[in-house]
Amino acid sequence: MSKRVVVIALGGNAIMPARGRGTLARQFANVDVTARQIADLVKHHYKVVITHGNGPQVGSLLIQQEQVEELVAGQPLDICDAMTQGQIGYMLQNRLWYWFQRYCGREIPVCTVVTQVEVESGSEGLLRATKPIGPYYTKAEAEELARRRGYVIKEVAAHAARGWRRVVASPRPVAIVESQAIMQLLDNHVVVIACGGGGIPVVRDERGMLRGVEAVVDKDWTACVLARLVDADYLLILTDVEKVALNWGTEEEKAINRMTVREARRYWRAGHFPEGSMGPKVMAAVEFVETTGQAAVITSLGRARKALRGETGTWIVP
Ligand code: ADP
Ligand code: MG
Repeated sequence: MSKRVVVIALGGNAIMPARGRGTLARQFANVDVTARQIADLVKHHYKVVITHGNGPQVGSLLIQQEQVEELVAGQPLDICDAMTQGQIGYMLQNRLWYWFQRYCGREIPVCTVVTQVEVESGSEGLLRATKPIGPYYTKAEAEELARRRGYVIKEVAAHAARGWRRVVASPRPVAIVESQAIMQLLDNHVVVIACGGGGIPVVRDERGMLRGVEAVVDKDWTACVLARLVDADYLLILTDVEKVALNWGTEEEKAINRMTVREARRYWRAGHFPEGSMGPKVMAAVEFVETTGQAAVITSLGRARKALRGETGTWIVP
């Protein structure tokens, strides 16, 4: 029997807690829990491909670039993306190494691929800076950064005292540049970690070269492209809620066990899945299911295997 292929998309919370300082020890503790879950899936004969978000990590790194500019030159966003792929890849590799031996009784090769993702150069998403990244600034700090580093800045929470943030474009991914390398690793039974942080966004310039852009690709959309590339049986999106809900956060909240792509679209149009959080997860799941005829599941980190057994999570089906 051939193994079922699962693309696992890890949310930021799988690595760095939303609250608290996110110390290295804390991040490793979170990664440890995540790695254990993944090893459990591998033990139960799933072939896994891993991708992850990088929001909190790249946010911290951007602060470091800005704060020590007098000493060393600050690096742009694409470089910071590459750095966080290495950082998070290392932490996952480190803990997977341990849990694979514990659960599978042997060393299983794991490899992080620094991954570029081609985005549409003329797309609306690339032209319009809408996605807030990094820390909050005062108006004066934000204006100074705009002048010094060319940031596009925006007042994102008018009511808050520190309501200014940098905003960047969030284009849709079209292709994974390292596709062949990823496929060759998979064919050779290597557990692959790829497209971290949604991938490093690049565009083709006039000379046919790839150029990094100051943008952020949503990791849920890239997970969909990756799942199609590797011909996944399941796209498993792990976040911090067990199930997607209708009327989320209200008295009428109702968990969804299963929805067809048509139902999902209808709920999305009715505003049940907000942009920037549940929206891209559900819609990326819909696109994967619609184009492949396979299924997608959204659930919380600790319930990965239970969800794949069909016992929990929100299933999106054709
Ligand atoms: P991740 O870091 O995993 O990408 P996000 O914070 O982007 O996580 O998205 C998951 C969050 O979306 C949940 O923690 C929840 O607070 C929120 N959310 C928004 N709408 C819904 C919904 N309809 N059902 C469940 N959770 C929702
Ligand atoms: Mg998210």
